[in-house]
Amino acid sequence: MTKSSVLGYPRIGADREWKKALEAFWSGKLEENELHARLQEIRLDHLRKQQAKGIDLIPVNDFSYYDHILDTAVMFGIVPKRFAYTGGAVPLSVYYGIARGTKDAAASEMTKWFNTNYHYIVPELNDASPELTENKPLIAYLEAKEKLGIEGKPVIVGPLTFLKLSKGYDASETDAWIDQLLPLYTQVLQELADAGVQWVQIDEPVLVTKLNDADLQRLNKIYTAFASAVPGLNILLQTYFESVENYNEIISLPVQGIGLDFVHGLEGNLQSIQTSGFPADKVLGAGIIDGRGIWKASLQDKLTLLGTLTSLVTTERLVVQSSCSLLHVPVTTAREAKLAAELKDALAFADEKLDEIVILTKAIRSTDADITAKIKDAEQKLQALQSSGDRNRKAVQEAIASIRVQEPNRSRAFAERHVAQQQKWQLPLFPTTTIGSFPQSTEVRKARQQWRKNELSNEQYSSFIRDQIDSWINIQEEIGIDVLVHGEFERTDMVEFFGEKLAGFAFTQYGWVQSYGSRCVKPPVIFGDVEFVGEMTVEETKYAQSKTDRPVKGMLTGPITIMNWSFVRDDIERETIAYQLAYALRQEVEALEKAGIGMIQVDEPAVREGLPLKENKQANYLDWAVKAFRITTCTVQETTQIHTHMCYCEFHDMIDSIEAMDADVISIETSRSHGELIHSFEENTYELGIGLGVYDIHSPRVPSVEEMSNMIDRALRVLDPKLFWINPDCGLKTRGQEETVASLKNMVDATRIARAKYNATPVLS
Ligand code: GLN
Ligand code: ZN
Repeated sequence: MTKSSVLGYPRIGADREWKKALEAFWSGKLEENELHARLQEIRLDHLRKQQAKGIDLIPVNDFSYYDHILDTAVMFGIVPKRFAYTGGAVPLSVYYGIARGTKDAAASEMTKWFNTNYHYIVPELNDASPELTENKPLIAYLEAKEKLGIEGKPVIVGPLTFLKLSKGYDASETDAWIDQLLPLYTQVLQELADAGVQWVQIDEPVLVTKLNDADLQRLNKIYTAFASAVPGLNILLQTYFESVENYNEIISLPVQGIGLDFVHGLEGNLQSIQTSGFPADKVLGAGIIDGRGIWKASLQDKLTLLGTLTSLVTTERLVVQSSCSLLHVPVTTAREAKLAAELKDALAFADEKLDEIVILTKAIRSTDADITAKIKDAEQKLQALQSSGDRNRKAVQEAIASIRVQEPNRSRAFAERHVAQQQKWQLPLFPTTTIGSFPQSTEVRKARQQWRKNELSNEQYSSFIRDQIDSWINIQEEIGIDVLVHGEFERTDMVEFFGEKLAGFAFTQYGWVQSYGSRCVKPPVIFGDVEFVGEMTVEETKYAQSKTDRPVKGMLTGPITIMNWSFVRDDIERETIAYQLAYALRQEVEALEKAGIGMIQVDEPAVREGLPLKENKQANYLDWAVKAFRITTCTVQETTQIHTHMCYCEFHDMIDSIEAMDADVISIETSRSHGELIHSFEENTYELGIGLGVYDIHSPRVPSVEEMSNMIDRALRVLDPKLFWINPDCGLKTRGQEETVASLKNMVDATRIARAKYNATPVLS
């Protein structure tokens, strides 16, 4: 009989109980035993929910005290030496030490989980001596069984994925590491089998990336070893986020089931299964409910897809499941009280997805009037949103249709613009600027809160913001910065601020998802056609400009960043959404220019995040991402200087795309990516204005003039001095005023030294 299954359930709880428990423990408000008790309550509650909904294969061990990759490392005793760990059970203090750092030892690095916004802790293998410290999946399995009578499905990160995500070893040592880890994994599996476990889900998301022959051999070795050591245990080898590469090799592995993503890898996986068939002795985990999107599924379409699959796999061997763990979506729509009914009815968060999975499973088992009605109901709800005014803004749709076929070019090429801009602005050599935001003091946050609660009138709030601008315009002039900013005091978040002012966006009350550790984000929802409804930033920018003779940069968040940090509709292409955003932002750029703002920065820190996992899809993404930026910025006069900013991602393999954005100036972070970026300019020339961040804004430490001078010298070895700008790494909103002023003073001093040294025109002021 067809079964229903889930790959993982969100940890955070409908009210972020999980986050609150962790943070209470960290701040000493909760004892360790209380933390264990609270987390157990949350964990069991999640299991109960899945049980009540009727999920057959309920995941266990998907829960975590922080992150599942960290759990895997700790389970195998892989703890960096600096935490003074000497073997055996890993204490909670060490576990959280690795995740968050201690006073004596730095935290392990954290990085993005494939192309999601979840971040995992990178295991450091180095000189670790792996041992099995505790069989976590077994503990989770026994708990579910004893407390709730649930026959759970333990979830484990597979060895190949674990090794590929780890660092601290040389590629030539991969096989030695596999030899060390295999007996430990085997022991875990053996103990699970002895306890009566039926199915284990082993996650190997790396199988959607390109593997070389050596890796394919390793894969074979690993799963052959498992099959011979634990012949009675059913292993479901789980992949997600894309279609698998090497389909034929994967289906030949000696496992009992294979999980494929039929949402994000639909085309490729369907093609593989139709061309090569699916082995008659294996179970197919059909990931058809989107574990990353927030929309209701068209159950009718999903049934059609399941129909195609059941022509290749018998219904006994079919498992209907989510495409990936539900970790990436919020918990439930049930508590959303402020969304328009049309929108709320078209949403499905984790709990609603459980229902969808169960409905589809039942629909395969039998035709039942109740199920048919539910399928029809879903169709009607989706249709209602589809035919709403929000999704049918004719003016936008027409504008996008024509913009799509145009070449978004500036009126003149950079070399000519550069001359015209120099003539207009008369900037000194190495102009100095900042990235946009200044410290959001408690005072600023308090005023915003009061205004939101109507305790401050609009007029009082604007006057408060104007005071902040006044004071920071003065500070910037005193320090001697050349290109000023207004400071972004009116913004909490660079995406939310614009989302609240554009049509097509909605904001949930409880739509939180885990980003890393206890940190959760609540992304805006782009549910309709995006449209410009009125000026968003002109007032503050114009005011700031009225207070100084120096240029003030207008400050916008770019289309791709807004898109990548939101939940977006899935009825149209992301490319179209990006163009809608770009077109709306272009109207703001034009409004700023009309108001006399001659420098406009369009931030794109998240441009890299949307990069597809498959190499053959990356160029297309970068093409339209660049085009969206150009649509936003191409209509200004040649003397209007377009800036952009990027940070905290790997740029070195996308310098060409960055250059193609054709921004007159880019400010780019370098301290985290260390020398890599500078190195990449040795190989690629960059022919537009560029400022490499000369100090890391993530620490309250005030960097010395000398440190910054060194950074400048190093950059000028590979970049053209005539095009070089000097700025911090990123926005300064998380910093305090005192350290910000001190750091910027040092930055301007380092600039003066550089100007003298590079035989500059005299310094302004
Ligand atoms: N302009 C924004 C700021 O300064 C940029 C933030 C970012 O890069 N994430 O805050
Ligand atoms: Zn930044």
